[in-house]
Amino acid sequence: MFFNGLLGRTAICTKHKIHLSQCPYFFTVLPHIIKKAPDSLEFQFVQIIKYPHPTLRHKSKPLRRVDAQLRKIASEMLELMYDDHGVGLAANQVDLPYRLVVINIQSDPEAADEELVLINPVISKRSGAAEADEGCLSLPEVWAPVRRADKIELIAYDLSGNERKFQLDGLYARAAQHEIDHLDGVLFIDRLGPTAKLSVKEPLSSLERQFATDRERGFIPGDEEIARRLAELEEERT
Ligand SMILES: [Zn+2]
Repeated sequence: MFFNGLLGRTAICTKHKIHLSQCPYFFTVLPHIIKKAPDSLEFQFVQIIKYPHPTLRHKSKPLRRVDAQLRKIASEMLELMYDDHGVGLAANQVDLPYRLVVINIQSDPEAADEELVLINPVISKRSGAAEADEGCLSLPEVWAPVRRADKIELIAYDLSGNERKFQLDGLYARAAQHEIDHLDGVLFIDRLGPTAKLSVKEPLSSLERQFATDRERGFIPGDEEIARRLAELEEERT
């Protein structure tokens, strides 16, 4: 296989501990693998999962510690977010049951000073209201207006393990509320009014059909296997 040659015989999926060519996700993560290949033969496995993957409905527990591995996960999440031109990404969206989100409303890796990495974020105050269109990297091609608080205050830990307070408004406040919803298994489509709900019906059905096909082809594990894996990861870090 061409990509075996490119990656070498030691290219393994670090999540499943098998050669990449044996990994059921191999083809779905191909663009990321190619990008990583020159630097690293051991591929750290993170990919964005799509609706209606069950991990998107998982309510995550707080993380117990910040360490090098968590910092690496956060940096991989930022990279994936930039690759897909997103402004935010929650750990659930890369199939991890952690209360961790990354945000950059510029969606630009050059604007690293705009990056927010929030660990165990809690919104302590909400005020005002605003409605704007939202999309989600786990729901491609789905856009709809969502009403949310215009200003929020939140408390979260940073990657050094320090507690920090944030006052956010505008797109930052919207992105943070959207991402923190993910940590509770809530998607923006759950917050739509009746008209918007109707308008997303067809694109959602299309994503559901694609998910069913991917599962039939063996790219996505069954519900029980997913739940077992999430429980194992939770035990390690939450
Ligand atoms: Zn989202």
